[in-house]
Amino acid sequence: MVRAIVGANWGDEGKGKMTDALAHDSQVVVRFQGGANAGHTIINEYGKLALHLLPSGICRKGVKNVIGPGVALDLDALLSELDIILERGVPMPELYISDRAQLLMPCHVLLDTYEEERLSDRKFGSTKSGISPFYSDKAAKVGVQVCQLFDKELLRSRLETSFVKKNILMRHLYNKPELDVDAETERLYALGQKIKPFVCDTTKLLNDAYKRGDKILLEGQLGALRDPDHGIFPFTTSSSPLAGYAPVGAGLPPWAIVEVVCVTKAYSSSVGRGVFPTQMHGQEAEELRKRGGDAGEYGAKTGRPRDVGWFDCVATRYGCTVQGCTTLAMTNIDVLGYLDEIKLCVGYELDGEVIQDFPVTPKLKRVKPIYHTLPGWGSDVSDVRVYEELPENCRNYIEFIEKEVGFPIKLISNGPERENLIYRNV
Ligand code: GDP
Repeated sequence: MVRAIVGANWGDEGKGKMTDALAHDSQVVVRFQGGANAGHTIINEYGKLALHLLPSGICRKGVKNVIGPGVALDLDALLSELDIILERGVPMPELYISDRAQLLMPCHVLLDTYEEERLSDRKFGSTKSGISPFYSDKAAKVGVQVCQLFDKELLRSRLETSFVKKNILMRHLYNKPELDVDAETERLYALGQKIKPFVCDTTKLLNDAYKRGDKILLEGQLGALRDPDHGIFPFTTSSSPLAGYAPVGAGLPPWAIVEVVCVTKAYSSSVGRGVFPTQMHGQEAEELRKRGGDAGEYGAKTGRPRDVGWFDCVATRYGCTVQGCTTLAMTNIDVLGYLDEIKLCVGYELDGEVIQDFPVTPKLKRVKPIYHTLPGWGSDVSDVRVYEELPENCRNYIEFIEKEVGFPIKLISNGPERENLIYRNV
């Protein structure tokens, strides 16, 4: 049984917490795209862990954690993350790295950083983790696959090909020192030896697990609105965070997925640049930012303050549609307990007309949200474990969103910890 857990919005919806919570009855957790450019925060018996590349099943005993071929694999980031979790007392996880995954290298991080500097005010708000140059290299077929790490001459020749063009950019566009093929060959070869025990044909491993009937979770990063095709271009990411891409980036049949769990927050948040119609400002935003998540709304990767805003039914309906949502999971409902009234965006006004569908970015920049206001519930709901025991106004808020968005809210997270989870039969 294969489930995908993906974001309905701009990212940071709480997918890590949902994956960690749902991993208890899964045998395999897979990362299928992206790299160390975002973070999942999970809180469990080992404390609070910020994961960037490791799958969120690493704290569950007996769970196989797979890094699929679709991932941008930064070996330094992976090994240091592994060291951190081992130091925190997590037992050595069962980790499998695809021999077809490609390597995100320091040259990608440099190119990402220099390009953002060059673009100055026109920058995209990259996390400068090298993701865009990495996927550009993959598309141009000049990347390096994990399986090429173990043959030094092959590795050197791959880097030679790739560094010729990069060094022209380094010298003439960015005015920076050139990349050194020999030094990078030696460095990568040494790292390859360190990860060798984890490397295997993960496509075979996953298909065998699937045939055995194992439960497999495919864990997405970022959210639907960052998809390169369907998102808020150009404030998008470079690989698809959609459930439709999950079987490709993991290595499973497309028809294997039976459940697409779309995660959304009870309010909106977005880190990095982009277009965010329901954004709050000033004191109102500061209050929600301070109370949001487990320690305020600050990016798990960058520490940057996240923009926060009212729940956007238009954007979420679109996000769930392009994800192919079957189960909507709402997180952070506990955060809104302080509000007397809560606004929800139920439409956009665009050039004097009301629209219900999420438009392309140049139009999205001009929309004005249309709000509906509901009464708050004014209490702490984090101890509730049964849906019917949530205050009436809180249930009304959830059910109003469900109706507007048009997908069933079957899971409600009312706190950052594993046990803060309510299952709802709909
Ligand atoms: P992800 O990238 O989608 O996994 O999201 P992040 O981990 O970056 O952000 C979600 C934040 O919300 C983290 O700080 C989580 O610990 C926190 N979180 C997740 N679910 C809940 C919840 O139901 N209530 C509260 N208060 N925090 C939550």
